[in-house]
Amino acid sequence: MWTDSHCHLDAPEFDADRDAVVARAKAVGVSQIVIPAVAAFDFDTVRELAHRHGFAYALGIHPIYVTRASEQDLTLLADKLAEHVDDPRLVAVGEIGLDFFVPGLDAERQQHFYTAQLKLAKRFGLPVILHVRRSADQLLKGLRRYPVSGGIAHAFNGSAQQAQTFIDLGFKLGFGGTLTFERSLQIRRLAAELPESALVLETDAPDIPPHWLYKTAAERVEGRDSARNEPAELPRIAESLAALRGWTIEQTAAITSTNCRAALRRMA
Ligand SMILES: [Zn+2]
Repeated sequence: MWTDSHCHLDAPEFDADRDAVVARAKAVGVSQIVIPAVAAFDFDTVRELAHRHGFAYALGIHPIYVTRASEQDLTLLADKLAEHVDDPRLVAVGEIGLDFFVPGLDAERQQHFYTAQLKLAKRFGLPVILHVRRSADQLLKGLRRYPVSGGIAHAFNGSAQQAQTFIDLGFKLGFGGTLTFERSLQIRRLAAELPESALVLETDAPDIPPHWLYKTAAERVEGRDSARNEPAELPRIAESLAALRGWTIEQTAAITSTNCRAALRRMA
């Protein structure tokens, strides 16, 4: 049984065939999926999806959506967390964080939303699901100032030292489609060498396609888009982790699912 610790099942890319996507995931043994919100507009959607399919969800405002978010959205988040804090399927505050890669995002505004949401996670006793993109040190600084009860640094792409600091603060690190590219040297090295208790698997679907779905820039110019990633790809993505660790597929499923439940304790 597999756990996809990060999948945007509410994304419009799945509007046409969402139930079939879920059915394919379940058919290959992906029995648990964590659906993080990205903005106030999907708070209700992710909760309904999690309940409909027996999955888990998180509520938060993603750094890329901060530009369009308001103070009222933070108030709404606090209200929704208060309303659903006893819902066992609500497992974290997320997806929150900082993105210093995408151009044109206001760093100060991102920081404001990140800090405000760390405070909410602390108030409601929930772990956090973090978006890390050229921002590991600043995220860690926030966590030291406003400690939370751990969580997951999703699509982790920092250094070994930054990884260790997240682990020391009670975090697991999320790995997905990027692992399947031979050229992802740093991420593959981390996945091979970090303590086994620190690793969780994710698809980040519909994003971060594994190499067999990926199209190069030249192919995209020819009009062939990268195919949509989906949670049913998780077991095949996991083969890369199994090979790097020398684990069997069964071990890989068991270890990464256990780790996800340890990070997002309400899934236990
Ligand atoms: Zn995400």
